[in-house]
Amino acid sequence: MSEKALHFLQLEEQFGAHNYHPLPVVLEKGSGVFVWDVDGNRYYDFLSGYSAVNQGHCHPRIINALTKQAQKLTLTSRAFHSNLLGEYAQYITSYFGYNKVLPMNTGVEGGETAIKLARRWAYDKKGVEENKAKIIFAEGNFWGRTLAAISSSTDPSSYKGFGPYMPGFELIPYNDLVALEKAFQDKNVAAFMVEPIQGEAGVVLPDVGYLQGVRNLCTEYNVLFIADEIQTGLARTGKMLACDHENVRPDILILGKALSGGTMPVSAILADDDVMLNIKPGEHGSTYGGNPLACAVAIEALQVLKDEKMAENAEKMGQLLRNGISSIKSPFIKLVRGKGLLNAIVIDHPDEDASWELCLALKDNGMLAKPTHGDKIRFAPPLLINEEQIAECVGIIEKSLQVL
Ligand code: PLP
Repeated sequence: MSEKALHFLQLEEQFGAHNYHPLPVVLEKGSGVFVWDVDGNRYYDFLSGYSAVNQGHCHPRIINALTKQAQKLTLTSRAFHSNLLGEYAQYITSYFGYNKVLPMNTGVEGGETAIKLARRWAYDKKGVEENKAKIIFAEGNFWGRTLAAISSSTDPSSYKGFGPYMPGFELIPYNDLVALEKAFQDKNVAAFMVEPIQGEAGVVLPDVGYLQGVRNLCTEYNVLFIADEIQTGLARTGKMLACDHENVRPDILILGKALSGGTMPVSAILADDDVMLNIKPGEHGSTYGGNPLACAVAIEALQVLKDEKMAENAEKMGQLLRNGISSIKSPFIKLVRGKGLLNAIVIDHPDEDASWELCLALKDNGMLAKPTHGDKIRFAPPLLINEEQIAECVGIIEKSLQVL
């Protein structure tokens, strides 16, 4: 690492909290599928800001929308109307086919909002006795770092040492419809919140038919189906939403990350009136939620996904990537899995640091990826990657595996 890079790294280390363990690379520029470090080295970005940069780094249309709006009006708060919130609300609700949107900022706020909506719906519409509502989650879930999010986590590094935890949550195994139906015998269940593919858990795909089964059970037992599409949504898996693979429509849809194309925190909670209108003025909100800058950026970010057919490209390039990796003859790749451009490999190696070592080698060869849960490495490049680039990246992976 150069002196210059080391300087920036040490500043972070000395003055920033130690709540992350980044790869030793210091970035200063990005464009499309590439990022550059402070020494001018170029890398393929195979994390895409945890799938926030689906449209590619600094997409010119999104940056244009951002800078244009930034010079006009950035924040009104919801104490006043803006000329963009209504336009954005109309745009995103018709884009996804819901009656209403509630705008927030980060993904975890989207999850919190969905749970508040579900609890309120349970009391106002389902007839659950106040303070008795239950939310069901799947083991292995990840939806952020707030106290509610970690209260539903099964990962000790998320929850341990941060108790006491939020009551009214229950966990069942992922991809288990029998367990779900059993949990639904309790009349106080308001909602089941689930990721269509578990991203942070290491790109864990449920069986085909799982989401359809979830939909059917939720309908049968009058329980809200909350889909956390913060990581899987917005063309990442080869469809606009991962739920689209099974043609299911959740009652509450949570979006974030790529909703702003990686420029700023923008999240959205979509639902129909029966759910959304139970929350009244003054009962929920956020200073920055629905700000004009976010509205302008989100409209453009969504339009770019459609105009540039990013879902279709993700589907095709994902196939190529998985085929390419599968054809590498390495005893250390136990598994390649994924959908569209949300993929992971599982490393099988006696050295427990092998996946970190592999990520360091990938970096040295021009590709950035990060291990998740020890033995898994996610491969999720921006969705505009092309065939030639995929071939080059498979070559980089093959070459890097030689360090193990
Ligand atoms: N939900 C899912 C599925 C996620 O992957 C994440 C972040 O990785 C979140 C929620 C939380 O989003 P944020 O970090 O913006 O709060």
